[in-house]
Amino acid sequence: MTGFDYDLFVIGGGSGGVRSARLAASLGKKVAIAEEYRFGGTCVIRGCVPKKLFVYASQFHEHFEDAAGYGWTVGETSFDWSALVAAKDKEIARLEGLYRKGLDNAGAEIIETRAELAGPNSIRLLKSGKVVTAEKIVIAVGGAPNPHAALPGHELCISSNEAFDLKELPRAIVIAGGGYIAVEFANIFRGLGVETTLIYRGAEILSRFDHDMRRGLHEAMEAKGIRILCHDVIEEVSKDSDGRLVARTKSGGELVADQVMLALGRDPYTKGLGLEAAGVETNERGAIIVDRYSRTNVPGIFAFGDVTDRVQLTPVAIHEAMCFIETEYKNNPTSPDHDLIATAVFSQPEIGTVGLSEDDAAKRFTDLEVYRAQFRPMKATLSGRAEKTIMKLIVNAEDRKVLGAHILGHDAGEMAQILGITLKAGCTKDDFDRTMAVHPTAAEELVTMYSPSYRIKNGERI
Ligand code: NDP
Repeated sequence: MTGFDYDLFVIGGGSGGVRSARLAASLGKKVAIAEEYRFGGTCVIRGCVPKKLFVYASQFHEHFEDAAGYGWTVGETSFDWSALVAAKDKEIARLEGLYRKGLDNAGAEIIETRAELAGPNSIRLLKSGKVVTAEKIVIAVGGAPNPHAALPGHELCISSNEAFDLKELPRAIVIAGGGYIAVEFANIFRGLGVETTLIYRGAEILSRFDHDMRRGLHEAMEAKGIRILCHDVIEEVSKDSDGRLVARTKSGGELVADQVMLALGRDPYTKGLGLEAAGVETNERGAIIVDRYSRTNVPGIFAFGDVTDRVQLTPVAIHEAMCFIETEYKNNPTSPDHDLIATAVFSQPEIGTVGLSEDDAAKRFTDLEVYRAQFRPMKATLSGRAEKTIMKLIVNAEDRKVLGAHILGHDAGEMAQILGITLKAGCTKDDFDRTMAVHPTAAEELVTMYSPSYRIKNGERI
């Protein structure tokens, strides 16, 4: 132990912060972790976890409908929004308890307060006003929804934070944005019976994904009754005399709804954190600049997770925290590997993806083989539901390496996890070909697409 109060002080009780505090404490370090809101962070409290619970809730009406094709008669159904919110709250409280217990069992001191840097080795605890010192400081405060302060009427809008706890389910909602959150919530609200409009500035939703996934999902969402307006943005939000919101759009449209939700990206949550006091550098988005070992420019101060704006995903923050522990406390320098991160969009249907999209691969490789399958999932045969699954493998023709794998369909997220291993292991298309299919599954298509659907040479489809 040095002359400091703590070996490690962690600011932020989210995925990355809790993991680093827990592991360091279990290694015998004197650790404190400060959190101003609730332990678990965005992911557990108002992100991935409640979102997925809401996704499940929103799928039941289709399950009830589909049941008829399988001989079932489902009686009258109804949905109670407040019952869902209460059940979700109970589960989140349970998970938060587990996070606290994990910290406690490891011997980390839990401090419920906002904490800010007071200097290179000192932290101010706002609740008590006390200043404590630490040999190492981790900043893992995450991000916050972009409030779009330039939008007149933005204060009338909600973000995903509020969407989880609305007093009432809106009759109609307008969602601005075309990323993960906009798409996932549009499907959730529509599934719960809400009249849903998504408005996106670009040509097609999910700008960073493979074009077949984007188009396929767009069509599927429209088929579910979601109105999607591309090439348009909201220019003003106001309240009409009935108390409903009116969103005026750039193209001259007026969208009337009970809620307008902004899902326009998330910003690093660094404002007022005392970074200047400690001399910690940030970029133009306010993200803390770190090197490959998550070190800031100030010796002894580290940052990981969304606050560094590298890849805003929970498992990435956790991985970065574990690399920090290896490097700083286990004498095993390890830098996070941000290559080939598998990810899922919990839209309906889901998207599961890893590696390069067709367009990105075409920019980097001169000869590609694209394997593409589109089919009706087996469950839809008897249910009669019009839906399709799309699977795609992007292969470098030169060395047969699979560069990208993309799925739109049921359980695509589950499949993406396994595909992530194969791409990480550098598997070739021949490895896929010599793998026996699991029958009858949708995933078997991944190993039975024997001939390329088309090739792309020097950027040209042939
Ligand atoms: P995304 O970055 O995914 O999407 C932001 C969207 O907002 C994009 O469509 C973007 O358009 C648009 N946008 C940004 N600024 C403006 C503006 N000024 N006017 C109009 N449109 C704008 O962010 P999200 O908020 O959806 O999610 C935040 C992060 O959280 C994601 O990056 C993701 O990493 C993570 N997340 C992950 C999930 C998962 O793993 N399933 C689920 C939810 C969130 P354009 O594309 O043209 O730039």
